[in-house]
Amino acid sequence: MRWTQTLIPTLKETPAEAEILSHKLLLRAGLIRKLTGGLYTFLPLGLRALRKVEQIVREEMDRAGALELLMPALQPPDIWHQSGRYKDLSDVLFKVRDRAKKEWVLGPTHEEVITTLVAGEINSYRQMPKNFYQVQIKFRDEIRPRFGLMRAKEFIMKDAYSFDATDEAAQASYKIMYDAYARIFQRCGLKAISVEADTGAMGGKFSHEFMVPAETGENEVAYCEACGYAANVEKAQSKVQNPRSKVEPEATLEKFATPGVLTIEALTKAPYSVPAERQIKTLVYLVDGKIVLVLIRGDDQLNEAKLAGALKTGTFRPAEAEEIINALGAHPGSLGAVSSTLKAQGLAIYADERLREAAEMTTGANEDGFHLSHVAIGRDIQVGHWADLRLVQAGEPCPKCGQPLKLQRAIEVGHVFKLGTKYSEALHAYFLDESGKQQPCIMGCYGIGVTRTLQAVIEQSNDANGIVWPVSVAPYTVCVTPLNVAPESEVMRCAEKIYSELNARGIDVILDDRNERPGVKFKDSELVGFPIRIGIGEKSLAKGEVEIKPRAATMISVKTQEAVGKVMELAFSP
Ligand code: ATP
Ligand code: MG
Repeated sequence: MRWTQTLIPTLKETPAEAEILSHKLLLRAGLIRKLTGGLYTFLPLGLRALRKVEQIVREEMDRAGALELLMPALQPPDIWHQSGRYKDLSDVLFKVRDRAKKEWVLGPTHEEVITTLVAGEINSYRQMPKNFYQVQIKFRDEIRPRFGLMRAKEFIMKDAYSFDATDEAAQASYKIMYDAYARIFQRCGLKAISVEADTGAMGGKFSHEFMVPAETGENEVAYCEACGYAANVEKAQSKVQNPRSKVEPEATLEKFATPGVLTIEALTKAPYSVPAERQIKTLVYLVDGKIVLVLIRGDDQLNEAKLAGALKTGTFRPAEAEEIINALGAHPGSLGAVSSTLKAQGLAIYADERLREAAEMTTGANEDGFHLSHVAIGRDIQVGHWADLRLVQAGEPCPKCGQPLKLQRAIEVGHVFKLGTKYSEALHAYFLDESGKQQPCIMGCYGIGVTRTLQAVIEQSNDANGIVWPVSVAPYTVCVTPLNVAPESEVMRCAEKIYSELNARGIDVILDDRNERPGVKFKDSELVGFPIRIGIGEKSLAKGEVEIKPRAATMISVKTQEAVGKVMELAFSP
């Protein structure tokens, strides 16, 4: 490709719309352009890089025995009602109407469609294992589309779905996908780690996410360097339990005035001086229209993903001020779960494990401006449901080996789930087993955000001058840069020769045939990040040499006739 014939609209200035580096670089290097929030056009160079990621994904899926197909993005809502996710995913589902006012759904994922397909096509254990995949556009009505391709309304996902006859076979299918994912990210030049993950609205049995460590990531993972334990903080646990709360009850409840005290923090100050770890935080949630109290220790943070697990539903929300006053008779800041102060009896009370057997605690009195001290769990507060509800913190002991945990922000690029039979039962994907008995297929599902992966590569691989593409996904491997583009000049003749030789060898090469100053050309090729640049100028050519500049290493001079060989060596030797 010749630079002048394609479209590479590089930008000197950083567009104001971009917050994180990879988004800035995608725009500045002329790879994408925004249509509107969360919707982007891939320009020729961006699309080339995207196609390379897709190709790696396809090769590894095919190698793992998965079968490519393509399902409709437009889907009937009935199957979503059948699986129960019309409600569970209602926030992100895009819905459209046809001319007859009938409703349709734009697929955010395809469990419903693939399971409907399999229900009709697979009916014997002999037809399994099967794994189907597609590379396709997904639609999600994200609350906050941002960071360019990272969180878009429309994005490309590779989604795969496995169907097995037995649990062991399903386990093997999961492992095959897990291994394929590790290879995919490695081939894309990404350092990705796998972490234990929450199963959320998928309703699965267990899952792993593939995470690219990055400060700008929207996820946080807890990991242990000693034993390798790693989990999304939504799921992560630590060995810290209740011991620090374990104090014998000393005295009976005592109400004391705390005018203006509305936070845990305020109560730690004089004249009250109640340490946060001796306080009980009372949070109020609305679950299926009912008020639920959630208790955690004053120095802990609630983990909503764990709460969702304990409540067995993802559809809940913090109660609003008015709902709280109606239910408890006080404003946030003075709330508590002590039985004798509760207006309504029989409220569901969930508490974090760390509060088990806690005594000599302080909590709100359900009366504005008052708190209660000497509170003992069990004696004064009747907890209905115990669960691990807290967010782990850096430095807490690893749940496996006890060494201190570290926290790291990360970008989720892929997710593998062991689903079980939730969808096969709901959508009737049954088969006859060896003994002729009807069984639901055992499913797994596996997603890679292809467009997000592309941006993650840039987020992880860049320097002050621009993108530093790994060869495997670079839009072009080599940029041939003549410093004089006059058609009959020796420089241009040499450039054309090297360009056509590289093309003949199947190398992705671009010829920067713009009549621009060398400085402009060098800057642009560094910004776009081609792995290798071949600079050809009069001075070096007089010595029979050209200059090869690997994007991430120092320049070397080579004899003109050795240039192509050197490029092959640099680009393809491990
Ligand atoms: P997230 O927690 O980031 O919202 P998710 O858990 O909803 O992601 P999955 O349903 O597991 O995502 O989808 C599989 C993959 O699709 C994710 O691992 C991610 O790489 C990608 N993905 C999900 N949502 C988006 C989005 N809005 N924009 C771009 N990629 C996305
Ligand atoms: Mg996920």
